[in-house]
Amino acid sequence: MARIVLVIEDEENLRETIRHNLEREGFDARTAADGEAGLEAALSVRPDVVVLDLMLPQLDGLEVCRALRRRSNVPILMLTAKGEEIDKVVGLELGADDYVTKPVGMRELMARVRALLRRPHEASAGAKSAEVLRAGDLEVDRAAHVVRKAGAPIEVRPREFDLLALLVSNPGRAYTREQILSSLWGHNYVGDERTVDVHVRWLREKIEDNPAQPKRIVTLRGVGYRFDG
Ligand code: CA
Repeated sequence: MARIVLVIEDEENLRETIRHNLEREGFDARTAADGEAGLEAALSVRPDVVVLDLMLPQLDGLEVCRALRRRSNVPILMLTAKGEEIDKVVGLELGADDYVTKPVGMRELMARVRALLRRPHEASAGAKSAEVLRAGDLEVDRAAHVVRKAGAPIEVRPREFDLLALLVSNPGRAYTREQILSSLWGHNYVGDERTVDVHVRWLREKIEDNPAQPKRIVTLRGVGYRFDG
């Protein structure tokens, strides 16, 4: 069954171009032209990925993102215009998983959508990484794409999972933000290193006994992060 990608974008040309490209890649593309209709569609259609423009009539992208996050874990890819740096960070804090800056390159956009769709059955298909990483009471099950703490599953989004798997697979190793960015988002990613900080913060809230005094994902001042177990 084709994966459903919902595109919420008010500019008709861009919306239709994205739809066309998604369909050519074999996705079931759905569209909405404003924030309100987009939120409604996201909750009723239950897409596998949402491509969400930041500037939208009715509800803007940040409001849609916030409202959607309260009710769904669907991966959200934001579209932002140049100069919307602050909104980009706010978007990530509200729970967007990734963003692409306009003018949107279709190849890049399709690659990001595919990356967000990496899900359990695909992970286990590449059975080489089908193993469970363990650190104390923490388990990162790469085959099932599940994280457990003291045996209880923890909900993590795709990027959080990738980040945790990277850190846990190399305990004691220091990573710079740049290394983490290029490992998770690809070498051509022109990203903001604060993206890494945001994801680390989310992970700490989920896996640390006391997120304010993290013992597992440790900050190395002036360097980056290290997983200490
Ligand atoms: Ca717009």
